[in-house]
Amino acid sequence: MATDNATQSEAIRSTTRLLWIVVAVMAVFSVVAPFVKGRFTPAEAAIIHSPDTLLYVLDINERSDSSILRTPSADIPVRLLRSEDYSLLCSKMLSTVKHPSQDGVGIAAPQIGIDRRVAVVQRFDKQGEPFEVYANVRIDSLWGEVTHGPEGCLSVPPMRGLVPRFSSVKVSYTDISTLKRVSEEVSGYTAIIFQHECDHLDGRLYTDRADTVFTSMEWAAERAHFDSLGFYRRK
Ligand SMILES: [Zn+2]
Repeated sequence: MATDNATQSEAIRSTTRLLWIVVAVMAVFSVVAPFVKGRFTPAEAAIIHSPDTLLYVLDINERSDSSILRTPSADIPVRLLRSEDYSLLCSKMLSTVKHPSQDGVGIAAPQIGIDRRVAVVQRFDKQGEPFEVYANVRIDSLWGEVTHGPEGCLSVPPMRGLVPRFSSVKVSYTDISTLKRVSEEVSGYTAIIFQHECDHLDGRLYTDRADTVFTSMEWAAERAHFDSLGFYRRK
């Protein structure tokens, strides 16, 4: 009997171990599969399909937000760029950065909780100063004068800092209409926005580069109004 009990116990332990392994493999697969298959993860899709046009902007002072903001972003597979989800992601990022409670000149996908290489940049170098979305955007080279100008970030409220930036950049990204890789040279304030947003996609914040960081009383006052209306709360 003792031997039979021991055999049964060992069989139960083996089965339990096997079940745990199966559960662990399934859990890992559910996280990895969307990347492998070129889809947004369920968590990303939940943000993209949120009913709100103003998305919650992650705050570096929140621990869970900080880890997302500090994670380098993954490229979006090219075939995903023609999906409805990508189109919706772009429109949500645009409506968020342009919303009066944010009033930004750029935003990167990690700031809304999606670690993918997508950024919105307001093109002050183009007529009408349009906001444009860039997929898989990267800075290829930097040159020109380095100036230490004032900068702020929607994820680091209500601070500002003096940040050294190059005056010119060469950026490359995937063109949404041709799905080909293109590059262009940009100078001036728009070049600084590209540097700021691409830093986000590398898990970096302007505070990492700033000479000084200080509280902006003016921005704090502007935010207080929207804060009292609940605009910065996570839903
Ligand atoms: Zn920022």
